[in-house]
Amino acid sequence: MNILELEHVTKKYGAFTAVDDLSLSVEEGKVLSLLGPSGCGKTTTLRIIAGFTSPGDGIVRIAGENVGQLKPYERNVGLLFQDYALFPHMTVAQNVAYGLRRRGRSAGEIPVRVKKMLSLVQLNGMDDRYPTQMSGGQQQRVALARALATDPQIILLDEPLSALDAKLRLELRVELKEILRSVGTTTIVVTHDQEEALSLGDEVIVMRAGKIAQRGTPIEIYDAPADRFVAEFVGRSNWFNGSARGRLQDGSTNYLIGQGLEIRSSRQRRDGDAILCVRPENIEIVAADAAVKDSGLNRIPGTVVDVAPLGADIHVVIEYADKSRLLAIRKNARTAVGFEPGTLVQAIFAPGDVLVFPNQHS
Ligand code: ATP
Repeated sequence: MNILELEHVTKKYGAFTAVDDLSLSVEEGKVLSLLGPSGCGKTTTLRIIAGFTSPGDGIVRIAGENVGQLKPYERNVGLLFQDYALFPHMTVAQNVAYGLRRRGRSAGEIPVRVKKMLSLVQLNGMDDRYPTQMSGGQQQRVALARALATDPQIILLDEPLSALDAKLRLELRVELKEILRSVGTTTIVVTHDQEEALSLGDEVIVMRAGKIAQRGTPIEIYDAPADRFVAEFVGRSNWFNGSARGRLQDGSTNYLIGQGLEIRSSRQRRDGDAILCVRPENIEIVAADAAVKDSGLNRIPGTVVDVAPLGADIHVVIEYADKSRLLAIRKNARTAVGFEPGTLVQAIFAPGDVLVFPNQHS
């Protein structure tokens, strides 16, 4: 069952269209990530669902009911907004109890529910602290407990982890995911952080200029981006200008990417000019004179210009043809041994890893 439906929702600010004829639905219990660059309309979409911003056009349904006329507090929605700070003059318990009191829950029920929520976010015993006596991560957990306390049908999270430092952000991300899974509340999380979007969402919507550029599972979004915009926004890529040279018997297509340099793709087919993309982790590096058994693999001869060991990953930059560069990311230090700057190498990648997009920036 779809717990949330947006139908042809449009929001304009003067002549500027922040959300443009947006339709989407979310199944009960699922986590949907809205990902996109700054200003693409993510927060506006969330505010429309919450009832803080009214759309000029379109319908918002929660559990089948058109909520267009309902005030934010009349919608059964929990909020954790980036700027939705805790009430500083209230204790942790009072903060978590706030929504319950507003909804007129009984004096017997409230403390029980508050305890349960604080236990859920692992803040047992912190009931009487004030927000200023807590770390950023703890405050954000209180805000999550407050958002979940009323048992909302949908919970909306706007950049829930952005105020935290990198390490804490990662820890809380895992914790947040576990909490969302355990309570099973339908969730929409807005973020401009691709890792966060991919790791939290059952599905991800990539937005661009108020519209949906692509909706899919995290793996689909990464592995089969709908267009160049999505491929560029999610993950790292090497780009080549190509021009189709003909189909091979196995159905793949050859593209000329430089003088005497061709690469093959068995993914999308395109005639004429195209833009080709290869993810850096799909590129293997071998010595220039190494024999490559599989003649179907793409090879680009080049010279290593930089090797950056970044902990778990090693980034190797290879210069090929007329000063073009590509990046290969190897996972294991040993696979990059011997490839110091100046080494002649071949970059090897499979035709199945070459994505093909139209020539113009779509
Ligand atoms: P960010 O990641 O930076 O928060 P976002 O994708 O959430 O970006 P929105 O906050 O939804 O983007 O804003 C979408 C566009 O609408 C932006 O260009 C913004 O400047 C504009 N906008 C948002 N609110 C208003 C407003 N009240 N008046 C005029 N323009 C607005």
